[in-house]
Amino acid sequence: MTPIRIQGATLRYLGDSSAIFSGLEVTFEPATWTAILGPSGCGKSTLLRYIAGLLTDKVEFSATEFSPPLDVLAGQVAYMAQQDLLLPWLSVLDNVCLASRLNGKKVDVQTHQKALSLLKKVGLADKAASNPNDLSGGQRQRVALARTLMQDKSVVLMDEPFSALDAVTRYKLQALAANLLKDKTVLLITHDPQEALRLGEQILVMNGKPARLHSIAPPKQGIPRDIDGEFAAIQQSILEHLAGSHAKKLDVAELQGGSNDATR
Ligand code: ADP
Ligand code: MG
Repeated sequence: MTPIRIQGATLRYLGDSSAIFSGLEVTFEPATWTAILGPSGCGKSTLLRYIAGLLTDKVEFSATEFSPPLDVLAGQVAYMAQQDLLLPWLSVLDNVCLASRLNGKKVDVQTHQKALSLLKKVGLADKAASNPNDLSGGQRQRVALARTLMQDKSVVLMDEPFSALDAVTRYKLQALAANLLKDKTVLLITHDPQEALRLGEQILVMNGKPARLHSIAPPKQGIPRDIDGEFAAIQQSILEHLAGSHAKKLDVAELQGGSNDATR
């Protein structure tokens, strides 16, 4: 596996006058988890969707380096979104086999067996014949995880995959995903600094217009990490970066600026 290297990258949606990001520099090392944080609308999903090859006809993109080339990279990528996109008219097992069906491959006994063994890994072997609508949110995301693993790609792109889950379910799924995807190159978008710190071996904050990436040194423990003092200190630093206030202490009076304006 080779790293994904993007240097001097600029992206603009066709018809828009300004770029979403410009001069973007990032390397994703093989078999490494990268967590990407950033305010809503800064371009995180755009970056992921571009890497997945989903935006080629919608954007103007240039880079001094982009390797491996997009057509090669896009073939190595599996994509997992916040909404699990399970098809309600298929069983859980058939949803896990979906990629094979879409590729026009025959869903044979071997494919079914592989899907079943992955459902076992995510703890849902007994739900294979169920309808996705009869599962909880956490169970549905575990099916989506099994479906992602079924594709057997070396790069896994995850766009806020756990954000709709309650705290305990999310905590368990983070550990499960870290375990099952430990050999993959994972790009995880999250709005949750704690999630980035639990799972990120590289932690990036995306910010600004056009957006840039700022790297935050992760804690030393392996992932999934438990919360300790170092973790808490870095969490504070991430929140300050997200608030755009890393250069100075957060100024509460400034945050209340809206009400002050009226009295000026
Ligand atoms: P994030 O995932 O960080 O919340 P997005 O990548 O979804 O941000 O969006 C970044 C910006 O690009 C937003 O201003 C959004 O409105 C714009 N955008 C997203 N998709 C499109 C599109 N298909 N065409 C034009 N603009 C888009
Ligand atoms: Mg997004």
